[in-house]
Amino acid sequence: MDLKSKIREIENFPKEGISFKDITTLLKDRNAFSYAVNKIVDDLKDKEIDYVVGPEARGFLMGAAVAYALGVGFIPVRKPGKLPSKTTRLDYELEYGTDSLEIHSDAISQGDKIAIVDDLLATGGTVRAVAELIESLGGEIAAMEFLIELEDLNGRDKLDGYHINSLVNY
Ligand code: IMP
Repeated sequence: MDLKSKIREIENFPKEGISFKDITTLLKDRNAFSYAVNKIVDDLKDKEIDYVVGPEARGFLMGAAVAYALGVGFIPVRKPGKLPSKTTRLDYELEYGTDSLEIHSDAISQGDKIAIVDDLLATGGTVRAVAELIESLGGEIAAMEFLIELEDLNGRDKLDGYHINSLVNY
């Protein structure tokens, strides 16, 4: 299956010079969606995953589908103020400024084996922050799974020692 042909590229979105990878066209295609989810599940099958963690918002779409197909639970990571119970928060550096993410503090227990699933790996800043949050609660990162990897941005350099898998490369 040629997954790349199912991803729509939008030039100059959300700002000038960015070629946005729009996965809504892939999600809408039932064959492409199930193929992509199953490919990620294949990579996770032997890793004894306890939970899938997905960051807002496209990580919910891929992550929840992967969790369901793998037969494990799903844990959301969100922007500040969205999760209702007690949260653990991480502030992290962006190229310009900072950003923050939260997870429910009781969502992960010591030694839980976690797969992080998101739609896209760019600079690696987001997934690194998600990994830090999980590890601060005692979770172990067994894998990082992405539909898309933007190779020129060298996200992997920030993620030394983690198992990283992506399905489509640009
Ligand atoms: P990073 O933190 O630089 O690795 O950026 C990854 C995050 O930005 C992911 O959560 C993506 O959802 C989002 N992202 C960056 N570029 C794109 C894109 O072209 N399409 C969809 N999402 C993107």
